[in-house]
Amino acid sequence: MKSIHEIPITSLYGVGKAKASAYASLGVETVGDLLYFFPRAYENRGFTVPLSAAREDIKNAIIMTVATEPRVSLIRRGMSLLKFRAFDESGSCEITYFNQNYLKDKFHVGSTFRFWGKVERQGKKISMTSPMAEAYTESVPLPPLASIYKLTEGLSQKVISTHIEAALTLARESLPDYLPERIREKYSLCTLHFALEQIHSPSDYQSLALAKRRLVFDEFFLFAAGIGRSSGETQRYKAPVCSDGDVTPLLNLLPYKLTGAQSRAIDDIRRDMAQNIPMGRIIIGDVGCGKTVCAAAAMYISVKNGHQAALMAPTEILANQHYADLSPIFERLGIKCALLTGSLTPAKKRRLHEQIASTGEDRIDIVIGTQALISEGVKFSDAGLVITDEQHRFGVGQRAALSERNNHTHVLVMSATPIPRSLALVMYGDLKLSKIDEMPAGRQRVDTFLVDEGYRARLDGFIKKNVAEGGQVYIVCPAVEEAEEEAEDEILFSDIGFDNYFSKEKKEKTPLKAATQYADELAARMPELNIAYVHGRMKVKDKDAVMERFVRGEIDVLVSTTVIEVGVNVPNASLMIVENAERFGLSQLHQLRGRVGRGKRKSYCVLVSGTPTLAGLGETATKRLRTMCNSYNGFEIAEEDLKLRGPGDFLSTSTSSAIRQSGDIGFKLADMCEDTSLMTDAFSEAGALISADRQLAAYPELSQEINRIFAIRSDVIN
Ligand code: ADP
Ligand code: MG
Repeated sequence: MKSIHEIPITSLYGVGKAKASAYASLGVETVGDLLYFFPRAYENRGFTVPLSAAREDIKNAIIMTVATEPRVSLIRRGMSLLKFRAFDESGSCEITYFNQNYLKDKFHVGSTFRFWGKVERQGKKISMTSPMAEAYTESVPLPPLASIYKLTEGLSQKVISTHIEAALTLARESLPDYLPERIREKYSLCTLHFALEQIHSPSDYQSLALAKRRLVFDEFFLFAAGIGRSSGETQRYKAPVCSDGDVTPLLNLLPYKLTGAQSRAIDDIRRDMAQNIPMGRIIIGDVGCGKTVCAAAAMYISVKNGHQAALMAPTEILANQHYADLSPIFERLGIKCALLTGSLTPAKKRRLHEQIASTGEDRIDIVIGTQALISEGVKFSDAGLVITDEQHRFGVGQRAALSERNNHTHVLVMSATPIPRSLALVMYGDLKLSKIDEMPAGRQRVDTFLVDEGYRARLDGFIKKNVAEGGQVYIVCPAVEEAEEEAEDEILFSDIGFDNYFSKEKKEKTPLKAATQYADELAARMPELNIAYVHGRMKVKDKDAVMERFVRGEIDVLVSTTVIEVGVNVPNASLMIVENAERFGLSQLHQLRGRVGRGKRKSYCVLVSGTPTLAGLGETATKRLRTMCNSYNGFEIAEEDLKLRGPGDFLSTSTSSAIRQSGDIGFKLADMCEDTSLMTDAFSEAGALISADRQLAAYPELSQEINRIFAIRSDVIN
């Protein structure tokens, strides 16, 4: 029998070409995709109110009976109205729909519906426009929660629900529960069928929470099992042996001596690359500790032994920077080095592709670039090593794909984010670790202060002073635009806990400083300065253009969201201001701080609390931020953050937000912060299962599911 993941969406009744392409734009191509296309929120229609108590500002559920036959009137060409009256014991209401004449057959006098929508009042008159209406009988209660899907043109909530209904029917016959029964029972997880049914049309909160719990467990479990399996697998592949590990000629060209930690990391690399199995290593070390030169050494070893090497950075700016730093050194060593990014002209790209694939004289040995490196058309003639920089922007799947594409090369990853051991599997369970826990000598300390709103005027003065002295300023804000009010009548998916939903308090929020608005206000206060902003919702090209201008010193103050977090080097930047600092994880703050103090200028970091006074911050937040003022070691700071807030928060604010942004890991529901204990359980079960039976011979359905998920992940990047 065909798996639902192989059945195209068009095989569902009512899905033709147009709907299929609408679905495709939502990433839904198979029946399986549709089943895993979860609602983005739920509306609570279970709380019904009498018409007299219905509100105008939010949607209400009102049970009313149709009082008059619907009448259709044409108001102008192409626009018709359907009107009727409905009532409950508290009053009556006029209901109007536009251009939906077919509803005439739905609303018969005497039939009862649960209407869902806002009401309008004019004097005593009450009306509703285009409310949702579900047929209602007292004996069969309607489910209290209605699923809300992300929509796109051509697909309405109703249409999606209908198709999902059909998909669920198919799943009942052809979707195996791949999770070993023993594990399901041990953690009191519901069946897969129940979970999928309830996530789409929950009968109540409790079932919905059960469903979510099972699906979250599965995401963690499948992920961990997949990683566990593939990390064992790389051992079976052959990688080029690089027995000449002498990097002295390269080191001789550097204007400095390596730190002990750098030397140790290079030793690790040298040893790994001399083996005939692929290296899988990650270098973790604070921003500025000098990881790039370790990468350079690894590439040098690869080339020296006759193989090419690639260095992939997450952004074009970083790729440019690496190229500018490294290509002169490689050139002096007689090594051909090229830059490959998305902004090259097609002709140049083609030429580069040829040179990379060449086996002749014109072969390029080292390629530095962006994701363009793993795009179609890039084929190395003989790659020995691939390196990804700031790896938290790349997923395990991407990493695997890059290596696989090139016949299992050595792999080196560099990251500035120390992450707790318990969660390390998620990010790099397949890699061995080299820690760089030592800074080059003479590095300045970035003095760090914690202040509140009362300091604003002085802070403005400080900004001006830094610029007047020739420095540049970063200001980081947590949000892009003024936070939108959350709709009161929607329950966001993330709000569905495993405990009682109702007991969950709404989190208190401090007003967020928004990058765009902030930049405007600042510009009004300091018209003499060049102020610009960047944020994650800007087009990459525009964002990069602003960043480039900042790098060139044409911008004095750069207001941004955390997009600047990843290793851009602006030695002239002397002040980092972080607004709503309590919103950030310590490790992230530490990385942000690492953006300044990279040159000769004495540099500062100012953490501004989102509360009017520091007293309003709360004990833990204050302690955390004080840690930033007192500690300058990334590993130490990560430990402290762990202690104070647990692993969840640590990840929520640093790595996992990056993961979520890039969809790297592909968790749809699971939140490593909220669901830490479930994650730990899922990881340990997956680990045990894999080490007992790597091929999962006893669980073919599980094995198949893992294959499917991991295949998708490496597809995504192609
Ligand atoms: P990161 O680890 O953040 O990627 P980089 O590799 O960009 O750090 O190094 C930061 C700066 O420190 C670079 O300008 C680099 O030339 C310099 N650097 C690296 N290693 C040393 C060292 N051992 N001594 C002095 N400066 C160094
Ligand atoms: Mg770096």
